[in-house]
Amino acid sequence: MKYIFVSGGVISGIGKGIATASIALLLKAAGYKVSPMKMDPYLNVDAGTMNPIEHGEVFVLDDGTETDQDLGHYERYLGESLNNSNIATQGSIYLSVIQKERNLEYDGASIDVVTYITEEIIGRIKEAGKSKNADIVLIEIGGTAGEYQNVLFLEANRQLKLKKHDDVLHIHVTYLPIPGSLGEMKSKPAQMSVRDLNAVGIQPDIILARAERPLDQSRIKKLSISTGLEPEYIISAPDVKNVYSVPLKFEDQGLTDRILGKLGLERKNTDLKEWRAFVDSSETTDRPVKIGIVGKYFTTGDFTLMDSYISVIEAIKHASYKLKVKPEITWIDASKLEHSVEQLSKFDGIIVPGGFGSRDVEGKIKAVRYVRENKIPYLGLCYGMQLASIEFARNVLGLKDAHTTEVDEKTKNPIIHIMPDQIKKLLDKDYGASMRLGAWDCVLKEGSKVGELYKKWGNLPAGRQTSERHRHRYEFNNNFRADFEKNGFNIVGTSPDGKLVEVIELADHPFFAGSQFHPELKSRPLNPHPMFLGFIEASSQKSK
Ligand code: GLN
Repeated sequence: MKYIFVSGGVISGIGKGIATASIALLLKAAGYKVSPMKMDPYLNVDAGTMNPIEHGEVFVLDDGTETDQDLGHYERYLGESLNNSNIATQGSIYLSVIQKERNLEYDGASIDVVTYITEEIIGRIKEAGKSKNADIVLIEIGGTAGEYQNVLFLEANRQLKLKKHDDVLHIHVTYLPIPGSLGEMKSKPAQMSVRDLNAVGIQPDIILARAERPLDQSRIKKLSISTGLEPEYIISAPDVKNVYSVPLKFEDQGLTDRILGKLGLERKNTDLKEWRAFVDSSETTDRPVKIGIVGKYFTTGDFTLMDSYISVIEAIKHASYKLKVKPEITWIDASKLEHSVEQLSKFDGIIVPGGFGSRDVEGKIKAVRYVRENKIPYLGLCYGMQLASIEFARNVLGLKDAHTTEVDEKTKNPIIHIMPDQIKKLLDKDYGASMRLGAWDCVLKEGSKVGELYKKWGNLPAGRQTSERHRHRYEFNNNFRADFEKNGFNIVGTSPDGKLVEVIELADHPFFAGSQFHPELKSRPLNPHPMFLGFIEASSQKSK
């Protein structure tokens, strides 16, 4: 097995995750089986308890693992589903070591950090390789070089390199700023970040140089001299409009061959045709489709964070490019909608994505009412499906106080509630485990609109059954099902035993659908999700 570590330098947020995902795709296209993994420095055992304000969207895997967005990038670029061995937080690593110590598994040894934690890290890396039967494990180290937090991951990298010299590679993604007042690209911070790696015993083999613009020869030469790398191992990675073009830019500069060469591997294949076609169609379509996402937005100081909906945005893009339309996405702050819902009329389609808690719920419900009555295509994702049900109960079924017990515990019409077997787990404050997490099977009704979409686009494996990812605590209350269906609000997807409502759609509407699961988590560039395809198709009809 070969191991490639990817570290970051200078600042966070320079696209290490996209770079790692791109390398994974390139090595797969070259004929190798790749297992990408993320090493996260924080002490949370998983991302489930983290606030999306701080950390962006929580991405969920089939096995229910709650991770950060990087796993989303890996899955989208690689086109494969990953599992819990593809993520390790520092918290989970310490937890295993401490649990083993408590279970007397170390025979009374004194447990020092540098041996036992690093051994555990190396064990996790090997596990990630084994679980995918991989030729190459690609390990993205969270954080930036020179900080205290990720130093044990780098130490594990150093120790593995000592043992398996030719099988271990290090790629450093660094940053060259162009300060506005100078107008010149500066290489010093990048030189320093390599020096920070050197200080912990690591010499990178390849540098991916992120910058606003491509690197010129003089910058490459400077970096080459200061880092001791030949110029061809310094790859320019300028800002791009379309992140899906990154692998192609790397390939065209020979990155794949440099990596394979250093690892002593032959190229077996060059299979990027489909990816190139996808990138081409994303760059050549210009007929716009205007999509509004009604959400809660968070600000940190003067900046607004959009990271909480990355998978939704990507799923919109995948479907749009396939249908040859160009998505124009607008963020609509639900808190501002209560008095100006008419602004939604200018959109071709509206999404209410997942969410938690009571903030801005009334604004979202107003939005749903407006698009239902004005026949604007609607897609409700998780909370978006629950709120669509509440809106229908209030304004069509006449149940004025209809609500979810998440917001109003005492409502007489709990359209959305907690199923009895979940209540105890919640009382025990066992939050992580009390959610319905990960992949669950869903059976779609023959002849329903959403069922037809799956048939058309989704190559359903076993008849009408599909599997989708969940992350929620509340469910549609079965006591209300008959009343809804009598009035044209159809339940068209359920769990195989029929007990859990998974997909709803309106009979009398151009496109109005919602799912209790998150279809966006399974959308891939080369395989867009049927529900997003249906939604974008309907929205682009409206835009004509
Ligand atoms: N808050 C809702 C629930 O817990 C929806 C969650 C979501 O949208 N992911 O059921």
